[in-house]
Amino acid sequence: MSAQLILAPGKERSLLRRHPWLFAGSVERLVGRARPGDTVEVVADKQVLAKAAWSPESQIRARVWSFDPAEIIDNAFFKRRVAAAVARRGVSPRLTLEQGLRLIHAESDGLPGVIADRYRDERFGDTVVVQLTSAGAEKWREAIADALVQATGCARIYERSDSDVRGLEGLEPRTGWLRGEAPSGGVGEIVIEEHGVKMAVDIVAGHKTGFYLDQRDNRKRLGELSAGKRVLNCFCYTGGFSLQALAGGATSVLSIDSSQPALDRAAANLALNPRLDATCAEWRCANVFDELRKLKAAGENFDLIVLDPPKFAPSASHAERAARAYKDINLLGCKLLAPGGLLMTYSCSGGIGLELFQKIVAGAALDAGREARVIQRLQGAPDHLVALAFPEGEYLKGLLVQVS
Ligand code: SAH
Repeated sequence: MSAQLILAPGKERSLLRRHPWLFAGSVERLVGRARPGDTVEVVADKQVLAKAAWSPESQIRARVWSFDPAEIIDNAFFKRRVAAAVARRGVSPRLTLEQGLRLIHAESDGLPGVIADRYRDERFGDTVVVQLTSAGAEKWREAIADALVQATGCARIYERSDSDVRGLEGLEPRTGWLRGEAPSGGVGEIVIEEHGVKMAVDIVAGHKTGFYLDQRDNRKRLGELSAGKRVLNCFCYTGGFSLQALAGGATSVLSIDSSQPALDRAAANLALNPRLDATCAEWRCANVFDELRKLKAAGENFDLIVLDPPKFAPSASHAERAARAYKDINLLGCKLLAPGGLLMTYSCSGGIGLELFQKIVAGAALDAGREARVIQRLQGAPDHLVALAFPEGEYLKGLLVQVS
């Protein structure tokens, strides 16, 4: 019999709203024995409400697999869940044609701790990259890999379970081929096309699973806005926004990142697209906070500025410091815009909600002495779907702002 996780009185409320996380403070005790990742029954008032993965080291003590107490958590369960996630992308048939596509978005697909992205290279086909970040996902690693092969027909699965959050679950990092092997020519050479631009994706050493797929449609939007503009792209990583700006007809694109390997990859990506005018692009290795001040001191300005920083606030407890950092770069961004200029600004911090983010940007515009209005709200691409019961899934928020 599986162990039972007994909830403290009144702590079943979020569960009844189908939120999948059970924090340490909600757990009264564990009856029976469970190892990390084992399935436990979640009990309130002597009633089983859900089945969840036990994670004793994490503040999130358990993550729900199923709200149906009768559902058995076994290999077949993962087959069903993975197949459903892959099928869900088919709701928008055009989405499934994307060469870089998120197939599983963790909690929002009913698979807490499981991320899977598919990269399609025209020369050698598909590679799926998985990231497992919870004790439960780790326990069912083989079942998830088999289910992915079955649901996608892709024989090549690479594991990038090296995200920092694994440490919070007491898990060591793990990377390597989970199914199949590297295509000849090496895995550093996966090339996808995104809105007509070729991008190499480094699934072994790149960030996340190799690429920021969540910004796919926002990069396209930037391209649409770029004709005839002088663009500044801050936190450019491998140049996704920069290349779309060039494709959209920007007259110049200055891109800044503190990582030289990312900038090298960005320049190489530009070379993959000979129709783009490389003489319009400049790559600068610098700290954005310092470089924006230098550009201001030098009297520079731009028509269109992108700010896509890393997560400054991984959780709500970091929100205050993060808010200051967002304010700082947005203030500098507003100051560097030419009259009528556009700011495309993002936060991917779970701890900063849309309302707070908009307040921060409003404060920045005010302090910069610029009247500003929101032209458009921006969000993650639709393959990064958000379960309504799990608003944390909507971590990426953006604003397109025009200053006077
Ligand atoms: N916009 C990118 C993703 C940005 S990820 C895309 O569409 O692909 C964030 C990037 O910020 C990373 O490449 C990281 O190297 C860089 N970075 C983090 N802190 C920085 C800082 N203080 N100054 C400059 N770059 C920084």
